[in-house]
Amino acid sequence: MPKPRGRSAGRRRSVLIIGSEAQPFAKTGGLADVLGALPPALARLGWDATLVLPKYRGVSSGTRTDTFPLTVGAWTRDVGFFEAPLDDGARALLVDCPELYERDAPYGHGNIDYPDNPRRFAVLVRAALEHAARHGAPSVVHAHDWQAGLAPVYLRSLYAAHPVLAGTPSVFTIHNIAYQGLCEADWLPRLDLGWDQLAIDRLEYWGRVSLLKGGINDADMVTTVSRRYAEEIQTPEFGFGFDGIIQRRRADLAGILNGIDVQEWDPEHDHFLPAPFSAADLSGKAAAKAAVLARYGLPTGAATLARPLVGMVSRMVDQKGFDLIAAVADNLPRLDATFVVLGEGEDRYQRLWRTLAAAHPDRIGARIGFDESLAHLIEGGADMFLMPSRFEPCGLNQMYSQRYGTVPVVRAVGGLADTVRDAASSKAVKGRRATGVVFDAYTPEALLGALARALDLFGQPRKWRAMQRAGMQEDFSWHRSAQEYVKIYDRAIKKRLKGA
Ligand code: ADP
Repeated sequence: MPKPRGRSAGRRRSVLIIGSEAQPFAKTGGLADVLGALPPALARLGWDATLVLPKYRGVSSGTRTDTFPLTVGAWTRDVGFFEAPLDDGARALLVDCPELYERDAPYGHGNIDYPDNPRRFAVLVRAALEHAARHGAPSVVHAHDWQAGLAPVYLRSLYAAHPVLAGTPSVFTIHNIAYQGLCEADWLPRLDLGWDQLAIDRLEYWGRVSLLKGGINDADMVTTVSRRYAEEIQTPEFGFGFDGIIQRRRADLAGILNGIDVQEWDPEHDHFLPAPFSAADLSGKAAAKAAVLARYGLPTGAATLARPLVGMVSRMVDQKGFDLIAAVADNLPRLDATFVVLGEGEDRYQRLWRTLAAAHPDRIGARIGFDESLAHLIEGGADMFLMPSRFEPCGLNQMYSQRYGTVPVVRAVGGLADTVRDAASSKAVKGRRATGVVFDAYTPEALLGALARALDLFGQPRKWRAMQRAGMQEDFSWHRSAQEYVKIYDRAIKKRLKGA
């Protein structure tokens, strides 16, 4: 086998990161925050970091640096590459193929995926790998979620004996195991995959093909976005049918908590807030509270300002606990609290919140839509932030909340369990002060109990301030997470050197 280029000793280590959305180019959820922040964080650790993602409609950044014809299956098109600098010397490569990516949304209309998504994301992966083949192999490929699941698969199949890419190790990160990239088996030849992939220990999943399964099986190392979620996805309750598939990779599985962008989410320098504030001086938070109430058309008098404000910014789907909220909806207006909600998602939940807001215009505000500036204002202005998730691989908002002195009320799952210390139980943990309210059971009673506990704590200003400050002092920076990824990259590289 020819010696792979680009991984020779002494060269700066490089990572090729492949994913379907990233800030500031395209965002539908937390993946975009992660892929926006990870490449610069790796660059700060001395890595040469390149992020490859589609050039969707409306993305105008970057300059064209390359174009070549790409064939996937019998499908051939010219694909362009637009290079855009990211912070700290990292770079993004936007794959230009208007026929595939110039659409209304990244993945589909409403809940219906575009039928050619397998091709759209196979082309993304192949474009990234072919570009690397022309410009030098990376030390490691880091693929994210089902959209990039074919990267490890192609490296072990199509490129196994490639003059440049042979032997390139890969890391695959699962951001949410509920999204499995399923398609019909007849896609296999159109994706340059042999029928041998339609096997239980390959990509086959109940007669269909799962791109997520491909990534999990073929990567040298597999990670997910919190330690707790890494454990949970090995169980039937959280594995969505993939618990056995994950268990087989247990020895190579790690949970690495996402960081947050501490510059974008910084109450001392957040231009979406009316006044800055910090752990040392929280006074500006009251201005944010008044501003968010005003944005929702809620009363801004002394009584409302004194009453705790509960915020939510979330996709309105079952995962995020909206069915649980629906079950307690009648109780919410009776609590001594005001609610502001921002989100979009399932129709029934959008309707529920619109109805609640219309019936209780002095207590409940609902905004259906995606609004970055309002999300910041809610994080800044709310007193507490509600995340009653059924499952939560990592979750970002509970970390943003803590940075903004907004006390999270969360269910003890996934990243929520790993990042919020409960007011009652953490007393026992020496030196680790409480940062929020955590509940266990996925029941209406447990949710109402947690809210009651939070409201009670709010009524004890000294305790409340201590929780706010403890949260604001937590280190959720990317630096720590990027260091852990580097360790995983090193393990993947070593495995390949050992010939695994
Ligand atoms: P997920 O990726 O499962 O949706 P995360 O908590 O990991 O959940 O990340 C969600 C991200 O999307 C956060 O940055 C959150 O603030 C943002 N977000 C979600 N819904 C909205 C919305 N309607 N408007 C603005 N930002 C939103």
